[in-house]
Amino acid sequence: MLKLKDVSKYYYQDGVIATGFSKVNLELFLGEFVVITGESGSGKSTLLNVLSGLDTYEDGEMFINGEETSHYTEDDYLEYRRKYVSNIFQNFNLVNSYTVYQNIELATLMNGKNKKEIKKYINELINKVGLKKYRNTHVSKLSGGQKQRVAIARALANDTPIIVADEPTGALDSVASASILKLLHEISKYKLVIVVTHNKAEIEKYATRLIRMHDGKILENKVLNKINLDKDIKEKDVNDITFISKLRLGIRNAFNIPVKFILMFIIFMLITITLISNYGGFKISEYEELSNFNNFFEDSSDKRIVLNKKDKTPFTDEDYKLINNLNNIDYITKNDLINDQILYINNDNLYLDGRIYKEKITKVDVGRLPSKDNEIVIIGHPDSWYLSDMQDEILNSTFTLDDTTIIDNLKVVGIIYDKNENDYSVKFSLTDNLLNKIEDNLNKNYLRISYQINEKYINSEDIYIDVLPSEKVAKGEVYVNENLNYYCKYNNCLNKTLTINTKNIYLDESHSYKITKLYNKDNIKKLLDTKYNEDEYTVYLNTDDYQELFHQNNYQVSIYVKEIKDLDNTLKDLNNLNYNTLSLRLSKSSETELALKIFRIFRLIIMVILVLTLFFITYFIMKIIYKSRNSYYTTLRTLGGTKQVCVNILMSELSTLAIFTYSVFLIFIYLVKKNIINVEYFQTMTKYIGIEEYLLVFLILIILSVLMSLRYGRKIFQNSIIKTYGERI
Ligand code: ADP
Ligand code: MG
Repeated sequence: MLKLKDVSKYYYQDGVIATGFSKVNLELFLGEFVVITGESGSGKSTLLNVLSGLDTYEDGEMFINGEETSHYTEDDYLEYRRKYVSNIFQNFNLVNSYTVYQNIELATLMNGKNKKEIKKYINELINKVGLKKYRNTHVSKLSGGQKQRVAIARALANDTPIIVADEPTGALDSVASASILKLLHEISKYKLVIVVTHNKAEIEKYATRLIRMHDGKILENKVLNKINLDKDIKEKDVNDITFISKLRLGIRNAFNIPVKFILMFIIFMLITITLISNYGGFKISEYEELSNFNNFFEDSSDKRIVLNKKDKTPFTDEDYKLINNLNNIDYITKNDLINDQILYINNDNLYLDGRIYKEKITKVDVGRLPSKDNEIVIIGHPDSWYLSDMQDEILNSTFTLDDTTIIDNLKVVGIIYDKNENDYSVKFSLTDNLLNKIEDNLNKNYLRISYQINEKYINSEDIYIDVLPSEKVAKGEVYVNENLNYYCKYNNCLNKTLTINTKNIYLDESHSYKITKLYNKDNIKKLLDTKYNEDEYTVYLNTDDYQELFHQNNYQVSIYVKEIKDLDNTLKDLNNLNYNTLSLRLSKSSETELALKIFRIFRLIIMVILVLTLFFITYFIMKIIYKSRNSYYTTLRTLGGTKQVCVNILMSELSTLAIFTYSVFLIFIYLVKKNIINVEYFQTMTKYIGIEEYLLVFLILIILSVLMSLRYGRKIFQNSIIKTYGERI
């Protein structure tokens, strides 16, 4: 029995008290079909809301099966509604994006039933309300009468003993109204059905009790059809919605409104891309080349590692193979000295200096490739002073190399443009032969050379002796300055043995030659076809012997890594292979490291601000989108959904969207990595982003979804069901 004793309901609005209804006394039983009529504003809706626990009352006492309710808290009311009451509204309050079946199913799922066990039951209910044909139609496509049938079926599925309907036919034409009232009457046999309607004439033939209200009071309370008025209202067993159902509903909600789905997809994608590209940019800046010099090396590229072997032996093909097999090796320059060699070339117009370009060239932008040893190619930035203004003066002109003993009359035959943004220096590409000559010369400069004649050392403080190659000298022989006779026994060096000792940190060698000719100022032209040098006691050697003497093995090489970010690993690998390493990046001064650190912190702060701003904007966009979802969650509340349930379903929905969006993003990244999608920006970035970062961004998306759900849950439960529905109407 549902009983009201002197119950009054007041509304407080702007300091004025309005009466909803006052001093109402009423007793209602199972099996009744109660019809409430009365003019607009007479308090019908207010009474229904109090009876169905949607609203509180101020005075008197309402009893349900004898239990007082005036002390009820919000949770008690929720429990009361779950056990006893289903509502049918004038404007249906169905979920428009669900099908007929899904709307009815929702009520059973909210009661903890699982999807399979209820299928038959729901189909029966659909048949009962005559909507068999529309089982899988979205309710938005139905007529008003059909919608109200769905609402009735849903109330039946909710399986509460009391069904309350406030003007269920208010929005329907007379034919539809009649059939709805008939349906309500049918179900009232084993329930308590309370209906507010204007359709008095139609309803009177069904009603078992007629209540007429006026100005907040009951004017008439008449039992029309005698029925057994002692049946108790049995409370329903309440069960909570299962985890699986919450998950299912969340997944369904994620996709079933296309516009919302697309908007959320865009938002999550934007967050993902912003986070990833910010993080990627940050990482890239961390691995940018340090713009600082190392005093000992001309080429202080961060990518360079200088190597020698721990046992000081020369590098072999085996070594190069081992090194090349490592990850992250871009290329090896076998003779390391060449890396730091600066060539100076000049003619009457121009002076240029630069390093040697070590990689093989296969084509030039202007001119042609070299075909002779004295032909060179210049590599430089197109905007540099020498290429933007002087290109015509450079191409096909002859230059002198600062060391003419190596080669004279260099000719520039080709130009390559290198658009590397911050490098405006000149680089020279040489033929292999010329490069070898320069290498030999370099090796010579890095050797300590001493001379012995018949085993007696020539004191290098007394005279300066140089060694040069000559075609005129036979193998195994040397021509020396006749002034050297002073150092020989009997003042004659002819046919004596000249020993040349070469030494550096890696090697210590001796080579002996027979002195077969002595030259002087007058005969040098005839003997050697060269000019006499007053200051030097040059020793002339056969060209091949000269090469043998200086074209030594490689004891020190440089490697260039592909990615600076993997430098540490490469160094570790090299050490494990028994090489001594010197990383040019790590040997740079610590001052720039500090500047760089400050710069990085600054960047990090900007990144954090950016991300927070993004979250802020996202949050508000999401809020707007989810405001339109208020009616959905209110519907869940009318079906007994607690705040926890609503939050969980929303969490499941947002997480689904996050997972879906992130999966699409990962597929995109995969395609980028496989070079199927060619976006340079992402290609560079993905190199710097590892699995941890991908996981972190995913975690952020999930956290955002969870926070959003919690916040939204709090929001929707701030207002009562009545108010939320009211706002929408
Ligand atoms: P009916 O459903 O019979 O048309 P209501 O129950 O909606 O009547 O209203 C009864 C009285 O309570 C009316 O005078 C109305 O102005 C007042 N009332 C209803 N709801 C509110 C509210 N939310 N705030 C203030 N007064 C209200
Ligand atoms: Mg009303």
